[in-house]
Amino acid sequence: MSTQADPVPKQGSKAPAASCLYVPPPVEGYAAALARGRDLVRDAPSAVVLTGAGISAESGVPTFRGPDGLWRSFRPEDLATPAAFANDPLLVWQWYDWRRERIVVAKPNAGHRALVELEQALGPRCFTLVTQNVDGLHRLAGSAAVIHLHGDIWFVRCTVCEERHEERSVPLRPLPPRCACGGLLRPDVVWFNEPLPAGALEQAMAAVRATDLVLVIGTSSLVYPAAALPKIALEAHIPVVVVNLEPTPLWHSATVALQGAAAELLPQLVEGKVHRAVKAAQER
Ligand SMILES: [Zn+2]
Repeated sequence: MSTQADPVPKQGSKAPAASCLYVPPPVEGYAAALARGRDLVRDAPSAVVLTGAGISAESGVPTFRGPDGLWRSFRPEDLATPAAFANDPLLVWQWYDWRRERIVVAKPNAGHRALVELEQALGPRCFTLVTQNVDGLHRLAGSAAVIHLHGDIWFVRCTVCEERHEERSVPLRPLPPRCACGGLLRPDVVWFNEPLPAGALEQAMAAVRATDLVLVIGTSSLVYPAAALPKIALEAHIPVVVVNLEPTPLWHSATVALQGAAAELLPQLVEGKVHRAVKAAQER
């Protein structure tokens, strides 16, 4: 390495070579980014929305990870597994019962409702909602069709005959619950070391490939395979709008990235689209 000091340019002399300079990209103002996002939503004939824990957290649903997810000193990784259920189904069910008690008091927020409005504005054939959340808040808000990548905590499935049905009792008794066939029921959610529900990811990927716009809401975009969805869109030059409280790994590749709450930003993003749909219906 040279010990020679960098030459100091004399006043009035030419600036150092461009390769020495870091020229930051122009920073788009927040208002301009929001306006771009609104335009993209308004003009898109179809859309796919991927939601994650962020939108649920705004409704008060704990993430069940980290300190606020601890129950009797167990970590989710120790309970949400097929092995843990096989070993002690009562313990796993007690944990799910505790989680269901915490989720049942949560109400959908303005972000969930904005997605219902977007679904209605686009129509069911041009709108796909994919969620990593198991809390059922999209369904409760009124979203008609939801792809649950990680299952739904309000459904149970028989470990013997595979029969699946909705079960909303809180608390659920007796534990562990049993099917009419006598088999143990389990929560119809995806556990660690388990594959996603049959067809869910394929359906989501097909929807992304066929859409005009992808919205990624309240997810770190880190957890595969859900994280693959925005990547597929970007590779196909489909615009991606990201909304999250914190920047995510998608931040710089997204078409528009907005830092903030889904409950605050989603109503603003879909407003123009909903307005146009209402106007079109009135003119008919
Ligand atoms: Zn059964």
